[in-house]
Amino acid sequence: MRGGAAAIGRPGLADVYEARRRIAGTAVRTPMVPSPFMTRRTGHDFLLKLETTQPIGAFKLRGAANAILRLPPDTRGVVCCSTGNHGRGVAYAAAARGLRAVVCMSALVSKAKVEGIKALGAEVQIVGRSQDDAQVESSRLCRDEGLVEIPPFDDFHVIVGQATIALEMLEDRPDLTCLLVPLSGGGLAAGIALAAKAIKPDIRLIGISMDRGAAMDASIRAGRPVEVEEVASLADSLGGGIGLENRLSFALCRDLLDEVVLVTENEIYRAMQVLYFEDRMVAEGAGVVGLAAVLFGKVTLPSGPVGTVITGRNTDMAQFTNVISGRDVTLDGVTVKGVPYAA
Ligand SMILES: *Cc1c(COP(=O)(O)O)cnc(C)c1O
Repeated sequence: MRGGAAAIGRPGLADVYEARRRIAGTAVRTPMVPSPFMTRRTGHDFLLKLETTQPIGAFKLRGAANAILRLPPDTRGVVCCSTGNHGRGVAYAAAARGLRAVVCMSALVSKAKVEGIKALGAEVQIVGRSQDDAQVESSRLCRDEGLVEIPPFDDFHVIVGQATIALEMLEDRPDLTCLLVPLSGGGLAAGIALAAKAIKPDIRLIGISMDRGAAMDASIRAGRPVEVEEVASLADSLGGGIGLENRLSFALCRDLLDEVVLVTENEIYRAMQVLYFEDRMVAEGAGVVGLAAVLFGKVTLPSGPVGTVITGRNTDMAQFTNVISGRDVTLDGVTVKGVPYAA
């Protein structure tokens, strides 16, 4: 059974407030802090929403906790497929409720992420080379072992869980005029978009993906969900398809995002350095694509304060050390040329 099967139709703001009540005490209300460097650089008040400070180091705990905390008491356990952070979120939320959790993921996922999930008490199944292979195994476990599948993005309750980020951002800074949102399967962007546009219809919402294997961007252009080849990236948390049977996140992103822009590996590399050296913060590649888009002139900002979600910090530390040291990084045969940081 799918966690979101009972909920019909599109989520609304009331669902987001309900999610916020449900996840309080499991997920953290994260701080949003100014980036003095980016503010100087852009001339806009530039704010960073630090989902890196969630107990699992990424925002995905919000959606996973919302989906899991609403399950009935006789639930046998939960299963999911994940490039890492969703798996962590599911593992953490399931452990908080004393439920069995099985996490299926592809062989592209870094060892650090696998170990992180095991440390949270979940079982890990490595299957195939893509998110889609992992999805097949996840569906099998839910059919054969009666576990409840918690989808990583295309789920009503996951989407409204992620949407709680927008409530907090607009409570802290009602004057925000633009949000820059990392975009993969679109659970985050769909949630943020539905909440933010309901509260402030004229706010500008920009989704950002890496330029290789950007499934949501390709799907929006095609007018329907399409498959893309999954490739290794500094933004590994943005890898994977959106599902050809996508029911919610595709339509919400298509209808509510004002723009989708793509950034290169070199741009992500530089943005990780900027966040580290200028703001003294550690984030994974997926978490800095909003910064990358601004730093490299990929977006035109409306006047007024702008916020971006620093979505996670669960980087492979050896890779992160190479980036901040200005060394080359090799991703599945492709090399991102090292450049030492200079402001
Ligand atoms: C999952 C994830 C994203 C993208 O979220 P989607 O809902 O799949 O679009 C961005 N950043 C990090 C760190 C993530 O784990």
